[in-house]
Amino acid sequence: MDYLKEKAPPIREERLKACNAFGGSCSKLSKESKKGCLNGTKRSFAQTQGCQLNLSLAILNTIRDAVLIIHGPIGCGGSSIAVSGISKGFQKLRDSKSKGLIWLNTNLDEADVINGGEKKLREAVLYAEKEFRPSAIVVLNSCVPAIIGDDIDNLLLQLQKEISAKIVPVHCEGFKTKIMATA
Ligand code: SF4
Repeated sequence: MDYLKEKAPPIREERLKACNAFGGSCSKLSKESKKGCLNGTKRSFAQTQGCQLNLSLAILNTIRDAVLIIHGPIGCGGSSIAVSGISKGFQKLRDSKSKGLIWLNTNLDEADVINGGEKKLREAVLYAEKEFRPSAIVVLNSCVPAIIGDDIDNLLLQLQKEISAKIVPVHCEGFKTKIMATA
């Protein structure tokens, strides 16, 4: 199957039967993993590690001449603060004039959960274009807009007609997988 043609690839739990918790010995882990039936795969909630949005950022933050928009609550993407220096370093390795990391957050709040966040995303994309004139605007979709049903693909398709930067939607909502490496 060619995952590149899909809007989003299958998560690792589906594709590789991966899990992030197991109770037992190494030999049992090896045996059970071959059968694809590890303990813990049925757990629906885990709060002990990063999410796939943050791992997606680790790669996307290194793209030059791009503005990243994290569509979500203000906390999503906060990890970029810790790696902004490294990201800038990687960009400058390829182009000494690169500006480094530029990212925005749509700062969704309780009212947006009820009314939808598309208006804020539209404003953020237009602001990114006007303020930074980047080659690309990368929009990372987080859990909240996915749960409330923001149609970001359609919105970004419409916005593409209004701006010159290439808009790239990335569907990396954290709740979709317990394995952050899915990103
Ligand atoms: S995308 Fe979801 S799991 Fe990841 S930081 Fe945002 S709310 Fe948390």
